[in-house]
Amino acid sequence: MSIKENLNTIKETLPPQVTLVAVSKTKPISDLQEAYDAGQRVFGENKIQEMTQKWEVMPKDIQWHMIGHVQRNKVKYMAEFVSLIHGVDSFKLLKEINKQAIKHNRVIDCLLQMHIAEEDTKFGLDETELNEIITSEEFRQLENIKIVGLMGMATFTDYQEQIRREFKQLKSLYTSLEKEIETLSILSMGMSGDYQLAIEEGSNMVRIGSSIFGARNYK
Ligand SMILES: *Cc1c(COP(=O)(O)O)cnc(C)c1O
Repeated sequence: MSIKENLNTIKETLPPQVTLVAVSKTKPISDLQEAYDAGQRVFGENKIQEMTQKWEVMPKDIQWHMIGHVQRNKVKYMAEFVSLIHGVDSFKLLKEINKQAIKHNRVIDCLLQMHIAEEDTKFGLDETELNEIITSEEFRQLENIKIVGLMGMATFTDYQEQIRREFKQLKSLYTSLEKEIETLSILSMGMSGDYQLAIEEGSNMVRIGSSIFGARNYK
């Protein structure tokens, strides 16, 4: 199946409120262009340098999402153009994003990444850390970032009930946070292997890579 066919097959199954982020990390420009020509405008990358290189050559009406772990010293390279940063997992990082956003006279939308998986290899905040951030005075003073939602990754397992439980947990956190942060509108959860489940549990943004572009080769 072609990239276009894959995209269309997935889009047919997505409810209208769900945004599809096409995760193009490691893939060549020609693949991104094929997705673009099929109508895709939201792309997700997990390395700032790679995303920047792609942004430079691709059409300018693309929304670039940074979905990977963000190193603070690299925020400056994407501050000009990134449209959503999914992986914000510390206050220090938020402060750096704010600082770089000021330089470009813009407000950068961010998702706080929550740790919902069982594995401790996955990045993210726990509830205590989340509350520390959002209740701090310093946080309120950051005017060039906007928290628009939460992101999470479920445990990599075949055990569906566990994945579902983790998504439920993130959704319920999101629901309670909505009362405190008015700007929330995005719950980013679900990848190729689990996006249907994620949508059933309330996701409105899915990050899909291999089901669109094929398996990645990390060589
Ligand atoms: C790579 C990646 C995805 C996409 O994974 P697939 O299984 O290929 O769909 C989604 N989210 C994050 C954070 C990723 O790093």
